[in-house]
Amino acid sequence: MEHIVIIGNGISGVTVARHVRKLSDKRITIISAETDYFFSRTALMYIYMGHMKFEHTQPYENWFWKKNRIELVKGYVKQVHTSENKVALADGTSIDYDKLVIATGSKPNKFGWPGQDLEGVQGLYSKQDLDNLEKFAPDKEQCKRAVIVGGGLIGIEMAEMLRSRKIPVTFLVREDSFWNGVLPAGESALINEHILEHHIDLRLGTNLVEILSDENGKAKAVVTDKGDTIPCDIVGLTAGVSPNVDFLKESDIELGRGVKVNRLLETSAKNVYAIGDCAEQHEAIGNRRPIEAVWYTGRMMGETLAQTLCGNPTEYKPGHWFNSAKFLDVEYQTYGWVFSERGMKDYEQHFHWRHAKEKICITIAFHKESKLFLGINTFGIRMRHELFDKWLTEERSVDYVMEYLKDANFDPEFYKQYEGEIVAKYNSEFGTNINPKKKSWKRIFSNA
Ligand SMILES: Cc1cc2nc3c(=O)[nH]c(=O)nc-3n(C[C@H](O)[C@H](O)[C@H](O)COP(=O)(O)OP(=O)(O)OC[C@H]3O[C@@H](n4cnc5c(N)ncnc54)[C@H](O)[C@@H]3O)c2cc1C
Repeated sequence: MEHIVIIGNGISGVTVARHVRKLSDKRITIISAETDYFFSRTALMYIYMGHMKFEHTQPYENWFWKKNRIELVKGYVKQVHTSENKVALADGTSIDYDKLVIATGSKPNKFGWPGQDLEGVQGLYSKQDLDNLEKFAPDKEQCKRAVIVGGGLIGIEMAEMLRSRKIPVTFLVREDSFWNGVLPAGESALINEHILEHHIDLRLGTNLVEILSDENGKAKAVVTDKGDTIPCDIVGLTAGVSPNVDFLKESDIELGRGVKVNRLLETSAKNVYAIGDCAEQHEAIGNRRPIEAVWYTGRMMGETLAQTLCGNPTEYKPGHWFNSAKFLDVEYQTYGWVFSERGMKDYEQHFHWRHAKEKICITIAFHKESKLFLGINTFGIRMRHELFDKWLTEERSVDYVMEYLKDANFDPEFYKQYEGEIVAKYNSEFGTNINPKKKSWKRIFSNA
């Protein structure tokens, strides 16, 4: 019986395992070093914040794996020997494979800062990171201040976590406005304000120079390039992640920043595949990045690869880009492409609306000449994914999107709706006379 060996029990690894099991009787083994069972990494913050227990982040009961004949091995793969179809584990054992799937995720970036390996300096990625946070920042008495380095989605999550225990947080962000490599200026400014209003000491345009140690090898302060020394008990390194592929450096599998794959998710080595955060497309798909470190793309790659492994070669086609996240209590959604000023295409034009008082705004990107709708970002308004996906596929114009914007709103009924105001601003800016259509459930369901 063919043996499929998967390294990594994150969303990518377990998805490919579950789908291979649905489609076949093959022998399946998942090897992973972090935890015994799959858990939802995106929910790590809610454990620290007391909303969930670790067990609640495990989507499957512990009996699930045995019942589905998915063998679990706890161990660290130290090398892959493709010529022998074998993986070598750190405990000296080895496992033979017929097909190997590398799904080893990411690791937090470290940029060689002096003091980056001290005690009390950590990323927020693994279950062990969560345990360390609990150890070094259990409460505001034992952790008088935390410093977070790197403004992105994980940095702001870490800030929210620490603030939930009233721990003072200083947030060093290299850019002069939060996440402005991704967000257009108006949105980035809104998030700057929101962070400050949550009593987080946001320091924009500030770099970490060094982390100072106490006499026991534990972090005691950070030094910034503005000449400040900030005493602290914990330092969070959240300046992005990169593929967790160092253990493959001795192998003959082609690496770039991640494991290089083609559209079938095949690596340069025969019968070896890579999926999820650690995979890097030779050629980026559309405007997507060659490495996509998001949850749903890991799941999609897992589903796609299962088809190929079970005799139905299938290319990875993720469709239109979308994503969602939370900046403290402000929800963010994005569909299609809305680039920041830094990444904006020459044909791209933006329409931005912001609520006068609340942290609510939208930005719509469209083609300057053809008015083709390119994408939308929303903060504080929930939108219907299926509708935007459909409008992008149908290549609708921005005027059409404005006309039917009320259909796309997904906020609960009692929420205030702003589409009238949004369209009025659009009309006055672009000299149009669009009359937004009343929300129609018939249209919405016929679109579903
Ligand atoms: C705090 C946090 C919040 C996030 N929030 C969101 C979100 O809201 N939305 C979103 O889309 N994405 C989010 N992400 C990103 C998302 O979690 C990842 O894209 C996703 O988990 C990647 O899944 P994966 O299966 O590719 O890898 P991983 O989940 O990293 O799993 C890989 C596993 O392989 C193990 N492993 C690595 N190397 C070896 C080896 N040599 N031997 C054995 N085992 C090994 C690792 O220990 C790990 O357990 C978040 C990430 C973090 C850290």
